[in-house]
Amino acid sequence: MERSIAVAAPRLALLNLSISLLLIVAGASPSNQEFEGITGRSLEQEHDHTHGIHCSRDRSRAAWKIIDEYLMPFVEKENYKISSRCRLHADNNLFRDQEMHKIHVDVNDWQCGYCKKSFRAEKFLDQHFDNRHYNLLNVSHSKCLADLCGALHCDLVMDSKLRKTKCNPAAASKNRHLCESLAGSCFPVSDGPSASRLHELFLHQFCDSHTCNGGPKPFSRGGKKQTSTLYIAISAMTLVLLPLFYFIVYLHHWNMRAGVQDLKRIPRKNQKTKPF
Ligand SMILES: [Zn+2]
Repeated sequence: MERSIAVAAPRLALLNLSISLLLIVAGASPSNQEFEGITGRSLEQEHDHTHGIHCSRDRSRAAWKIIDEYLMPFVEKENYKISSRCRLHADNNLFRDQEMHKIHVDVNDWQCGYCKKSFRAEKFLDQHFDNRHYNLLNVSHSKCLADLCGALHCDLVMDSKLRKTKCNPAAASKNRHLCESLAGSCFPVSDGPSASRLHELFLHQFCDSHTCNGGPKPFSRGGKKQTSTLYIAISAMTLVLLPLFYFIVYLHHWNMRAGVQDLKRIPRKNQKTKPF
């Protein structure tokens, strides 16, 4: 009896340790991100109407993300130089300079590259840019990347709740027209074989899906291969949990073996105390 208590005590302590470790791992993810400083007005409104700039920073960022992920890998592969007359050119993004001056120090630490002030979330840094550094926006060449969102399918990479479920033929046709005009101005077929190939790719990647008659999905040609944060989180969890799993299995076997030894002893004890 004493022996089985002695075996069970460290086992319980180790199991407690395992559970604590599991809880620490689960709690480490930044799921609970409540930030101060948000008023009733939505950030979208803040961005859209700050200092007379009617261009959504969030949608511009989504458009740039799409260009960077689903177009630039092919442009680089073709070694093609996009003209600055093309609206997809990096210089035609109103917010590009500010976006380049974002320093993501840590999960909850964003720094302004102009004045080095720190913020707990990217949205506060965005507000700071709007309030303190709006004079740095290149408004004279006002180029709003968000205006191309219809053609580039920004809603697909933004909040899915905003996505319309019903297809509107007029909107699809308008977006297709904008999309095809981008293909024409950014990759003129007259520019040579590289431009022709990219023109064709652009139509497949972005324009052909602007139809209500079941066209191909957007970005059908794929894009940049990324190691997502989810992938990194799962890998990290596996790295921590796998040794823990083997450790628990080992403990279980160890405990079983100890139990068998106890059982072997019991009959011997009984034999001794047995009367003749
Ligand atoms: Zn600043």
